[in-house]
Order: sequence, then structure tokens, then C-alpha cells
Amino acid sequence: MTSSGTATTGNTIGGRLVLRGVTVVDTRSGGLTPNQWVVLAGGRIEAIVPEGTAIEGVAQTVDATGKFVVPGFCDMHTHVLQEEHSPVDSCTLMLAYGITGIRHLAGSTALLRARAAGTLGMGEHAPELLSLCGELLLPMNAPTPEAGVAEVMRQKAEGADFIKTIFVSPKVFFATAAEAKRQGLDYDGHLSPGVDVIAASKAGMTVIEHLGPTELQLIAASTRGWLINLILKLKPPKPPDLSPEAMKKAGRIMIANPILGRLNADAEALTKTQRLIDSYSDAKVRAMAAVFVANGTWQCPTLIRNATMRLCDDPTYTESPDLRYIDKPTRAFWASVAKMFAAKVPPGSRDTLKQLGALELTLTKTFDECGVKMMAGSDFGGGWVIPGVSLHQEFDLLEQAGLTPLRILQMTTLDCAEFLKRAATMGTVEPGKAANLVILDGNPVASAGNLHRIAGLVREGRYYSATDLAGLKEQVAGRIAVEDPEAHDAADQAIA
Ligand SMILES: [Zn+2]
Repeated sequence: MTSSGTATTGNTIGGRLVLRGVTVVDTRSGGLTPNQWVVLAGGRIEAIVPEGTAIEGVAQTVDATGKFVVPGFCDMHTHVLQEEHSPVDSCTLMLAYGITGIRHLAGSTALLRARAAGTLGMGEHAPELLSLCGELLLPMNAPTPEAGVAEVMRQKAEGADFIKTIFVSPKVFFATAAEAKRQGLDYDGHLSPGVDVIAASKAGMTVIEHLGPTELQLIAASTRGWLINLILKLKPPKPPDLSPEAMKKAGRIMIANPILGRLNADAEALTKTQRLIDSYSDAKVRAMAAVFVANGTWQCPTLIRNATMRLCDDPTYTESPDLRYIDKPTRAFWASVAKMFAAKVPPGSRDTLKQLGALELTLTKTFDECGVKMMAGSDFGGGWVIPGVSLHQEFDLLEQAGLTPLRILQMTTLDCAEFLKRAATMGTVEPGKAANLVILDGNPVASAGNLHRIAGLVREGRYYSATDLAGLKEQVAGRIAVEDPEAHDAADQAIA
């Protein structure tokens, strides 16, 4: 594409940016309107007019003849903001991969304050932070229903957009879900052991992340679910009696790979998974899906996150060339987790993990067929999940699951806008919507693979050519390559 007018990238406030000759993709219907001029001004789509219309005050023109324009992608499950280090590289990378909006699934008082003060420090080239939760609900901050309710109220006062639950007792789960509802906050996250997914949906759980986790959601899909639930309840994983330092390490391992965490707590964990797989009932999944549809319960499958857990020592991930975007201490930690995983997974369980992967695709496809609301998320923060890159891997996995290219496009655009109640400004390429756009080399409704072929991007009215985006990726890789080697050696020793 060629661009004329002012500099290739530049803020066009005060002047209009025109994308010329582009095909506008309707994310609702998949309809295509070719040869359009998309006029952007003041960070919004001002007008979409037929080619050749007279437009005044044009500061920059981009020749997008033969290209396709869609809304900017949203990654609806990420952990890019962490207090410990700057999110600039991760945010830059996400933008370079077409992501103009993110939903953040781990919050804190510090992050909520930083957002309010405008000091999150996401950098100049970053997606918009669309939604941020408070502190994750865990036995530490929500040991009892009363404490959990107080925590929800505290997070509401702090300005959290939603509550994220991770691992709490069933009593705390339902008490905090009810309080979130009273406070007008979404209640999202993970099912807890002993919490039935149907009951969670009825209690108003808004989004189920990672398909459950899968095993906990599969209990309700099992013809022997009651029995399996009983077994899980009778034999809860023993809380490890560890020093604070060892506890911290176990926590990091759990985040990097929850399957390894489960195996560390219960050597029989994957045998239980196999029982769930063997008793999977399509009819029960469809009945479950009907409950989700009736209650408006969403799913954010994060198939890539689940795949990197199951295939933690697979060269697809351990030797990915995109690891050049990940700093050396993190890479080394993930490699050490992969080693532990290889040693811990019983050889007979590899097939269980393979079957689980296939079942996750089936589950996702069935939910889609039944009309369950879903959105695309990647879960950067987990082992081998690379910012930006991972959302594209998610698109591929959704395609493997059998979703149509249009549904995949919707899950990263239109559906995100609906979920966030921001359909007035997001989700379609129409006048009045925010000027966050991805320009593609191929038709994304014909093939989801065309979502990877980014020819240009507009973020808040600012244009980035494919060359600019490639330059941003190189900047990130370059910064990571020259990071202080001594810090890395220290980090390596800490991991060992
Ligand atoms: Zn997450």
C-alpha cells in the first residue's frame, strides 16, 4: 500500500485520513462493500463514501485498493499489565499484531489506581485497555463468604470493572457471585472445585474462562458427573505444607502450567481427566449450552492457553521463533517448567492430553453451534503464550475447531463490543465508530487465515503501514536482545 500526505505514521487530528479503494467487511453479516473510501477524523470513522467522492481537509491518503478493512482485533483475555515490569514491549507487540483493544484478567489496587491516574505506562504504540478487574478472588482474600462479600464491595469502591474468581470454596463462590450481581459487576473467571457449571450460570457467572478450566466444566458433560464430582470432593488436593519461598515458586509453576500444578498436588489427576473424557455426553453439553444461552453466560475458550499447557514440552512452542519477543528470564523459566512437565506426566497420560485437546475443540464447536456467546482471548501470562502472536494462534485453533471464518472474526470484534456494551463505538466499520481498524490483504470471511495477513492498521486515527508494524516488532525483539545479561544470569540462578 502506498500512503501520501504527511509522514507515514502520524496523528491526523486536525486533518482527515482517507483509506482509498478498500472493501469494507460487515462483521454482522459477512457482507462486502468494495471500492469504498473510509474517512477518519478525530479518532472516529467520519464517513464511508463511494470512491471518487470529494473530501475536504485531507491530511493523509492511504491507497488500500484490493484490501479489506475490519475493526481492530480485541484480545479478551490477557495479563499484559504487571506491576513488576513495564508492559511497553508486550503492548507494542500486541498492536503490531493487529490488537487495538484488550481485556485484562488480573488487577490490583495499584493497577486500578494507575489506570485512574493515567499512569499505566502502556507506551505510545498500545491497544486500548477495555476492561480491568480487581484482585483475583482466592482463599487469601476470600476465605469465608463474609470476607468474600467484603472483598467484592472493596473492589467495587476501588473502581474494578468486574470481579474475577479463581479458586474459592463453593460457599464463597456463590456468595461473591450474588454480591457482584448486587453491585452491578460482571462475575468472571474459573469454576471452583465443587461448583457445578449449571449452578454457576444460574447464579449469574458472566464469563467462563479457559472452558472451565476444562475438567471442571466437563463434570457437567459427563454421564458419571455426579460420581466424578463426588470423587473430587472426597479427595481434594492436599494443601502443600511449604515455606513462603517454596509457596511462591509453586504459585509461579501453577500459573505457567496448571496441569503440572494439578499433577504436583495429585498424581492421579490425569486419570480423573480420562474418566471425564470417557463419559463425555454430547447431549449433556447441548443441554448445558442451552442453559448458557438462556442466562447469557459467555465463554472465552483461550484454546491456545490450554494447548500450551497440554503440549508444554512440544517443540511447536518450546522452539517457536517468536520466543525472540520474550525476555530471557521468562523463556528460561518456561523451559524449566517444560522439563518438570516432561518428567511428571506419566507416559500413559500423553494420550489423555491428546484426547483432551480434541475434546476442547469439539466443546467449542458445539457451544458455537448452540449459539453460546464466545469471544477470543489468548491468556498471555501463561507459559509459552506470546503477546500478539497468541491471538493469531487462537484464530487458527478456532478454525481447527470448525468455526466459520466469520464467527472467528466476530469473536475478536463484534462480540467483544457487545460483551463490553460498547456497540455504539466498537465492533463494526461504520461512521461514528472508533478509528481502530485492521487492513487485510485477503478476505477474512473467505478464510480465517487472512486474519494473519495484516497490510496496515489504524489506532485512534493513526495509521501504521505493514512496514511500520514490522518495525515495531523488530524494536521489541531488539530491546529484548540487548537486555542486561547479568540480570538474566541472576534470574537463571533463581530458577535453578
Ligand atoms: Zn488468565
